[in-house]
Amino acid sequence: MRGLAGFFGALFTFSRSREAIAVSLSEKMIGRSHSDFEATRKGLVWQRAKPARRPDLIVKPDSVSDVVAALKHARTHGLKVIAKSGGHSIPASFLRDDGMLIDMLGMRDVTVDPENFMATAGPGTWGPSLLHALEPHGLGFPVARGGSVAIGGFLLGGGLGFNPNTWGIACFSVIGADVVTAGGELLTVNAQQHPDIFWAVRGAGPGFFGVVTKYHLRVYPLPGAITTSQYIHPLDEHPRVAAALEQLVPNSDHRLELILLLTGNPDTQAVAAGAPEQVCLVNAVAYGSDEEEARALLEPVANSALGHDPLARKEYEPTNLKILTGETGESFPHGRMATEGVWSNSIAPIIATLSERMRQAVTPVTTVSIRFMGNTRLPGKAAFSLIGSTNILSVLTWQDATDDDKVAGWLRDTMSALEPFSLGHYINNEDVVSYPERNQGSFTPDSWTRLRALRKQYDPDNLFHDYFGV
Ligand SMILES: Cc1cc2nc3c(=O)[nH]c(=O)nc-3n(C[C@H](O)[C@H](O)[C@H](O)COP(=O)(O)OP(=O)(O)OC[C@H]3O[C@@H](n4cnc5c(N)ncnc54)[C@H](O)[C@@H]3O)c2cc1C
Repeated sequence: MRGLAGFFGALFTFSRSREAIAVSLSEKMIGRSHSDFEATRKGLVWQRAKPARRPDLIVKPDSVSDVVAALKHARTHGLKVIAKSGGHSIPASFLRDDGMLIDMLGMRDVTVDPENFMATAGPGTWGPSLLHALEPHGLGFPVARGGSVAIGGFLLGGGLGFNPNTWGIACFSVIGADVVTAGGELLTVNAQQHPDIFWAVRGAGPGFFGVVTKYHLRVYPLPGAITTSQYIHPLDEHPRVAAALEQLVPNSDHRLELILLLTGNPDTQAVAAGAPEQVCLVNAVAYGSDEEEARALLEPVANSALGHDPLARKEYEPTNLKILTGETGESFPHGRMATEGVWSNSIAPIIATLSERMRQAVTPVTTVSIRFMGNTRLPGKAAFSLIGSTNILSVLTWQDATDDDKVAGWLRDTMSALEPFSLGHYINNEDVVSYPERNQGSFTPDSWTRLRALRKQYDPDNLFHDYFGV
């Protein structure tokens, strides 16, 4: 498993010294014939499955002027362009077979304006780094929940982060963005300036027609106490777990976050002694103003059927956002990884369907996460437009490429089984490379139509790569 040291080891390999900032763009470009090209190309992809797709040129800008110069170079040489930030896209949607790939990982400056509850952050900023900059001011932000995910692609595709029923889908906390357009112009977009591009930047995901060089963010006072409880039941008892959640979810306070994982039993010693191998694991996180309030928020969970006779429980444990991001990098097992999911409004039927699929799991590291959204009201107009009260995500990790087909088959059958309950997709979680139709399937029809029209308007010569396969 690769820990934080591994992450930052990779990062330092690509970082630029002060002296290097002064050198010309050509020294920040790596072409196919360069001896480092293959290692660099593979290093862009967070997970271990590295697609064979190869751009002509990889550029690593340090500044906005580098990005503007890179786009000029691309236009002059007839290269199509795509940007990437953290490289966490599971299908590596940014790896294309031709053109220029702009790696924005080096642009990760953060500024905080605590008086006005605002911050700015470069797209290469890791979620935990943003939290680290905000915490001394008593502030937080709904960064990705688990793993060190950069904000670049996370916010562009929506962003399902912490405290979702209070802080909302993260892209609605984007109050502006600096964007370099196909014409090479740097624009600050917000509700007043270039509102069309501002609309698109909040949710367009991997088909956005520009390069985001900075986000302007609304940030929030940290809750006074964040407290968690966890209850584990055998997978076979999923009907009891589902019944408890059917009761809890609609009546729960917006400061409570509930997540159900159908997964392997984390207590491997107990499994060796005969305990069930697969379990329903419920995580409840309370965001209270103080410990007493956080405890009170968790009490309905303890008093529900979830608290009765579980295989294991941990209750009322104090925590914080940095711990919950899995800052150590250990929260996701490393290997080849595939994810897919849907939005739904269903609870018990989904849990029954997915429990059945878990029994047929083809890798030992198969987890289905079901996140319950107590608040599905979107607070404004944005490209991010499709949501349901449950977000379902299958996450499979395996080591050997010979198992790829088996995994793909399991995911295909699982997505078919979910079809009757599906409202659509969440673009950040989808394998949009194998299933390009899931790009469109992540938007309401009106949003998709508007995105297509805006792309024509702002990138008439198709400088930027479109959604994969569209
Ligand atoms: C371990 C792990 C945990 C995750 N946890 C969560 C979670 O809790 N919640 C959640 O919502 N999602 C989560 N995700 C999914 C994640 O949000 C997406 O994979 C997201 O795209 C990652 O952001 P990135 O910056 O790494 O994107 P990248 O992989 O770098 O880029 C993805 C796409 O975004 C576009 N893009 C990226 N940067 C720019 C830019 N600066 N300008 C223009 N276009 C750009 C490109 O088209 C690119 O193809 C997780 C993923 C992983 C691997």
